[in-house]
Formats: sequence, structure tokens, C-alpha cells
Amino acid sequence: MRTSPIWHPFTQHALAGEMLAVERGEGAYLHLTNGKRLLDAIASWWVVTHGHGHPAIRAAVQAQAEKLDQVIFAGFTHEPAENLARALIDLSPEGLTRVFYSDSGSTAVEVALKMALGYWHNRGASTRKRIVTMEHAYHGDTIGAMSVGARGVFNRAYEPLLFRVDTIPFPEQGDEQRTLDALAKLCSDAPDEIAALIVEPLVLGAGGMLMYGGGVLREMKRICEAHDVVFIADEVMTGWGRSGTLFACQQAGVAPDILCTAKGITGGFLPLSATLCQERFFAAHYSTDRSRTFFHSSSYAANPIACAAAYANARVWAEEPVQDRIAAIAAFHARRLPRLAEDGRFVNPRRTGTIAAIDLRIGDRGYLSDAGPRLYRHFIEHGVLLRPLGNTIYILPPYCVGDADLEEIYDVISSAPDVLGL
Ligand SMILES: *Cc1c(COP(=O)(O)O)cnc(C)c1O
Repeated sequence: MRTSPIWHPFTQHALAGEMLAVERGEGAYLHLTNGKRLLDAIASWWVVTHGHGHPAIRAAVQAQAEKLDQVIFAGFTHEPAENLARALIDLSPEGLTRVFYSDSGSTAVEVALKMALGYWHNRGASTRKRIVTMEHAYHGDTIGAMSVGARGVFNRAYEPLLFRVDTIPFPEQGDEQRTLDALAKLCSDAPDEIAALIVEPLVLGAGGMLMYGGGVLREMKRICEAHDVVFIADEVMTGWGRSGTLFACQQAGVAPDILCTAKGITGGFLPLSATLCQERFFAAHYSTDRSRTFFHSSSYAANPIACAAAYANARVWAEEPVQDRIAAIAAFHARRLPRLAEDGRFVNPRRTGTIAAIDLRIGDRGYLSDAGPRLYRHFIEHGVLLRPLGNTIYILPPYCVGDADLEEIYDVISSAPDVLGL
């Protein structure tokens, strides 16, 4: 075979070996060209919600491809985008009335930040330009999204390009007040300077599947409201049932000012994202003065086929017992995770909705530790796709996963300490 010219994402090619060639995806499984199959326990990087190749979404993609492939979205609209926008408004937390389309989670975050800054600018409050973020946050890999994410080995080389942000501590269990106090202090110390807070509600994904409670989320929202600070919920990972409810904010009873959604929006079929906002953000840009236009676009914004896939996904949510499947996975985690944690070589078991995570008790912490890649290879050899974040092993399955599949995933994880010789 000729060597491939492809440079893969988040891949150290000097260590990674050959990429696995996938031929077909079906339900919770990936079928490789070498005849093997893999249980996709991380939903192909958190995007595949119902399972690979959901028939209704596949049919919608096929039908739309026959009608309209792509059209410029400035000055034009189409049925898939209109249907989807109304569905998104119906399904999302209270108060969000406008939908802006782009094509990835990172761009949805960039759009949210620009909406917040544009809002203050157009209202003549240009001093409001500081963004508050949470320790260990991840919001994507474009420059702006990196700027509001945690700094570390991932972005050290790009540091000169990143803008300054204010960071509040992650709300460790029992120490939540520290986070809230830090937020309140930032807001009251510089009342005319803080533009927005951006947070991943309930679960910080790439930061290590770190979890905190709905009460903290509610309090952060309350503090933002009290200081007129824009509250941005990055639901790119937590949305579409991943955290147990359609959006994580909903189980906490929080209505964000701006909400970012991507990953599961098309059920994992096609790249698409949306940034939803309250009317006041749209209104602040609505003017006969062209300089107040919201100056943002992606070439493929609201691609008709991606919108048709996403609308089909919304229909799946309306017509199939998705919530029951999610509840079954959550119940399985609730039974099985404590048993895994009985092995003292594991620490810090945690779960939210369909996500379960646990840490290996090893000295060599952090993403660059050798443990992750070694375990990754071990899990693959045993037919399960899991991708540890440093010493954190997490399960984030498609919702079609069965109890036998979940048991297999837990079994292979339980062998991890032995593999590392702990
Ligand atoms: C994955 C992720 C992003 C970035 O999404 P992309 O589609 O990969 O650009 C942003 N925010 C969160 C919380 C994510 O998990």
C-alpha cells in the first residue's frame, strides 16, 4: 500500500502506527476493511448520538441530495434550514429566539463570542470586552475558541495569537463557593468591563470529563444576570441527550442567553452547528445602518443536506423513545460504575447522563502521560474504541448501545490497571 499523504488530527504520527481503515458503520459498531469490528464506545468523538447510519437520517440526506446541494445563505433560504430553525427553538431552553448557522462547534463558539461583543459594541458599551472562562475548559481549536479554553501543551506554540481572558476555578465538589465567589468578584470589580461568561454546562469534556452540579450552573447564571453579563452555554458536547436531557441547561433549569450546539445536531451524519440567542442580540444588530450588520459567515452555513440531516434528527427525537434509551444507559452506569470503582486502582468515578468517567490512580498525570496511548491500543485490540484523556477513561456511547455492549466496555476497562502494571 502507498503511504498516505494525510496528516491526521490530534495524532502524533511518529508514535501512532497505521490509521485503521473503516469501511462501514452500523449502530454501535464500526466495521474495518480488515474484517474486524469495533464497538464505538466514544460515539466517534462524541458526535454519533443514536448510532451509525440511523435509517431516518440517512433517508433524509439521500432525499435532500436529490433536490438542493448547496446555496449561498446570504439573501437566500430553504426549507431544511427553516424547518430546523423552528425545531431548534422549540427544543432548546426558554427565551432563545434566533438561530445562526455555521459548520462546527468551534465556529459556533466564535459566533457566540462575536454576538456578545457585537451586542455591547452596538449598544455603546464598548468597554465590555473581557470574557470569563472556567479552568480546564475546552471550546474548540480555532484561535478564538482556543483563547477561551484552558492553556496547556495543546496551544503553547500559539500563545502569541490568543487573547487574554479571565478564568474562574473549576467548581470542585465541596468547594463550589470558591468558583461562585471568583465570578462575583470579577463582575463587581469591573462592572463595565465583563462582556460574557462562557461555560460547558455540567460536564467539561476535553478537560477530562470533569463534572459539577446544576446548582452551580444556576448560581453562575444568577450572578451573570445580576451584573448584566452575557451567559453563553457551550452545549456542543453536552447537547442532544448526552448529559441526560436534550440540553444540559434544561435539567438545571437554566435558560442561557446564548447557546452553542454542534456535534450531535445531525446525529453524527454531517458537520453543522448553530448558535442560538435571545432576541436582544439580534435587535442590537438590527439597523438601517450597515455598520451594525453581524459580520460573520461560513461558506457552507446552513448547508441544505446538513440541515435536512439535523431536521431528521429532531424528528427522531420527537418520534422515537430516545429519552428511554438515554435513561437505560444512565441506569447501567449507575449500577456498573460503582463496581468498577471497587478496584482501588481506580479513583473518582463520576457520571452525568450517558457519560461515565473514572481516573486511574497513577503518578504520571496529564494528557501526555504514556498511559492513554497504551490503553487505547489495548482497548482496540480487544474490539472497543475508547480514547482515554490522560489517566481518565470515559464511556460516551451511541444511544443504540445494548446492555451486553456496555458490559463488554466495562469489562475491557476493568483490565486497564493490569495492562499498565499498577
Ligand atoms: C468538540 C467541542 C467543541 C469544538 O467542536 P468542533 O466541531 O470540533 O469544532 C467546542 N466545545 C465543546 C464543549 C466541545 O466538546
